[in-house]
Amino acid sequence: MMDHDIIIIGAGPAGLSFARAMAETKLDILLIEKQPESVLADPPYDGREIALTHLSHKIMNELGMWDLVPEEHISLIKTAKVMNGHSPYALSFDHTEVGEENLGFMISNHRIRKAAYDSVKDYPNVTFLNEVTVSKVDTDDDKGWVELSNGKRLEAPLIIAADSRFSNTRRMMGISTNLLDFGRTCIVCTMEHELPHNDTAYECFYYDRTVAVLPLNNGQVSVVMTLTSEEDTDVLGMDEQEFADDVAQRIDHKFGHLKLSSKRHPYPLVSTLAKSFCANRFGLIGDAAVGMHPVTAHGFNLGLRGAQALAHEIQETLQSDGTFPPNIALERYSRKHRKHCLPLYHGTNALVRLYAISDYRTAKFARKALLRLGNHIKPAKRFIMNQLTETKDI
Ligand SMILES: Cc1cc2nc3c(=O)[nH]c(=O)nc-3n(C[C@H](O)[C@H](O)[C@H](O)COP(=O)(O)OP(=O)(O)OC[C@H]3O[C@@H](n4cnc5c(N)ncnc54)[C@H](O)[C@@H]3O)c2cc1C
Repeated sequence: MMDHDIIIIGAGPAGLSFARAMAETKLDILLIEKQPESVLADPPYDGREIALTHLSHKIMNELGMWDLVPEEHISLIKTAKVMNGHSPYALSFDHTEVGEENLGFMISNHRIRKAAYDSVKDYPNVTFLNEVTVSKVDTDDDKGWVELSNGKRLEAPLIIAADSRFSNTRRMMGISTNLLDFGRTCIVCTMEHELPHNDTAYECFYYDRTVAVLPLNNGQVSVVMTLTSEEDTDVLGMDEQEFADDVAQRIDHKFGHLKLSSKRHPYPLVSTLAKSFCANRFGLIGDAAVGMHPVTAHGFNLGLRGAQALAHEIQETLQSDGTFPPNIALERYSRKHRKHCLPLYHGTNALVRLYAISDYRTAKFARKALLRLGNHIKPAKRFIMNQLTETKDI
């Protein structure tokens, strides 16, 4: 007799969403999380404002998570503009082109985490083990098991790792991973602005630096700035006014006067892609499977899609006695979801590299050409639009 049916390592947004997607099967699910349960119930603000697609909206609705986010904390993106440096030319997308009220949604990461926790916490078959870490994980033909920092050992037929892009358990299971360290830092914060944002998201590419400004409610925008790791201490060390003026100048004063309304949160820019999303009785979801560069805002959207896809594959093979063949579901999930992630991962990294090369004339030409092609070649525009909104995948 095993201790649980499924052990999930990591109760971040991906681990929690997967637990919720499996909760109604009545399988016995354990979430192991190093942070205290009080932090899951009331996560602190971490600077991340997450752009969500229509597909994510649909999945969060189905999982009962969407309605747990108060409406006033959901903002809409209706238009998006991609700019090349200070050039006035923009690659533009408008919600009317997809026949929806908006291109996407914005919700703070801490509110997504809270909604995901609240959606699952009352299921009697889902339990939490907090303030412990997994120090060892392994599997054999019959079972998987984890050893915890408190010395305890727990067994289950299936182990799922949702323990971030720097997943230790992925390494313990010998899954090799493509890791790309951009040598850059991303600084995120919210700012009050003087001129209306008109529900428009701006992505401005300057050589070696990008600034994205995303519309929020209550006269605020989310600012996402990427810069070289040498510059980050200087920028984080600027006083609030100096920083606000620097951002305003970088985005050509499109929003008038700016004022910081949160702390500045730095994140190292490292993207990761596991060579496979599964091993024997062991699966990877969320950032542990694919950790995206934030510039194309795919990270959690892919995490949610993957969590739902794996839950679907397990449910397809679930027998009436509550048993299931884990490796069949894992292999189907890994093959399909990795195929979906692969072009987005490499495409995003190529885009980041193109805008990071400052000296080459060909790169300069390619940057200008890309925006014009995107605007004028209809299939290219439709393709980018669907990646932004995922309306065709609903
Ligand atoms: C600046 C920034 C902006 C972003 N913007 C967007 C966006 O606009 N749209 C979008 O879709 N995505 C975006 N993302 C990506 C998104 O935030 C991530 O994809 C998402 O948070 C990943 O969730 P996760 O649950 O996989 O991992 P995490 O959030 O990293 O959670 C992992 C959990 O595992 C726990 N853990 C780790 N190791 C162990 C262990 N050994 N034992 C027990 N517990 C453990 C951790 O405590 C944590 O709770 C952004 C990311 C950044 C950094």
